[in-house]
Amino acid sequence: MRALPPGSTIGILGGGQLGRMLALAAARLGFKCHVYTDVDGPACAVAAAATLGAFDDLAKLKAFTASVDVVTYEFENVPLAAAAAADAIRPVRPGLKALQYSQDRLEEKRFIASLGLPVAPYAMAGDSDAGLAAALAHIGTPAVLKTIRLGYDGKGQARIGSTSEIASAFDAIGRQPAILEAFVTFKYEVSVLAVRSLAGDLRFYDAPLNTHRNGILDTSTVPSPLPPAHTARARAIAATIATALDYVGVLAVEMFYVGGDGPEPLIVNEIAPRVHNSGHWTIDACAVSQFENHIRAVAGWPLGSTERHSDAVMQNLIGAEIDDWPRLAAEPGACLHLYGKRDARPGRKMGHVTWLKPRQAPV
Ligand code: AMP
Repeated sequence: MRALPPGSTIGILGGGQLGRMLALAAARLGFKCHVYTDVDGPACAVAAAATLGAFDDLAKLKAFTASVDVVTYEFENVPLAAAAAADAIRPVRPGLKALQYSQDRLEEKRFIASLGLPVAPYAMAGDSDAGLAAALAHIGTPAVLKTIRLGYDGKGQARIGSTSEIASAFDAIGRQPAILEAFVTFKYEVSVLAVRSLAGDLRFYDAPLNTHRNGILDTSTVPSPLPPAHTARARAIAATIATALDYVGVLAVEMFYVGGDGPEPLIVNEIAPRVHNSGHWTIDACAVSQFENHIRAVAGWPLGSTERHSDAVMQNLIGAEIDDWPRLAAEPGACLHLYGKRDARPGRKMGHVTWLKPRQAPV
């Protein structure tokens, strides 16, 4: 197992803001990045090279892969066939298993449950009102209907309060194949950001408390009020998943904190096999960010410190909120990150800001 030396090229599948921040972190360690994307995105402007190509153009994808030393991905909906074609030429890290599970909510839930980890009660709803009615009879109300594939930022989801809402809920998600989940009454949401090296070392960032607006992540705050014993449990859950996947890189595990004194204070909502929006604060509040640690891991390097030197609140800048940049740029303690996207469409992640304060609790 040889660490890639500085000067090597890291291939990134996907060209969004996560790819951009990965490429910036890679550059700090002397790596070059080559981005492969089907749309000209924010990562292209900061990478050494970018190839614009479809993910089913396997000839183009193979030529790209042969020109890099290792491949990673910045979004979980990279078609499996594309990732497999790349993996036949260069290692794809974090790996194909993680991609496969995170692309299919049903497979993901089954996998997590098979590890003995807590998930919300769920049932297959299929793609018919009759299927959903049967699932509702099993799960009860309130419940959440979620498309099996391609759901993100609250898209492809509908809440169901009563059986009279079956048809409207299915309409709302476009009548796609879906699963039904019991609605979890949680105290708050946290995410565990774990990083696992090629050698199997695991480290964790402090788990942020996350709030959402219109189904999209709004803020991530560290420290969160998660009690130490429950932090340990949250990390153990993420460790079990990362180890089972033989994972290399940053893994985000989103969880509901239900608290209480029972045996299980947390419920796993979903995993993201990549760097994650709820870890953006690590750029400014840690010596080594989630992005750098992901690059270190996929390059076969030792992991860097995940320690947090500051308290932090990260807020996403969604759509027209980006217009506030002159005020934020003038604000002391605000670390501004803009993704260079042209159109500030509603719901689009345009940038984020992290406010830092000296760390209150001792390390
Ligand atoms: P997801 O796309 O699964 O991450 O869901 C987006 C957001 O919807 C979550 O972060 C929660 O705030 C909410 N949510 C999703 N599933 C449930 C559930 N089973 N119970 C309560 N809230 C949920």
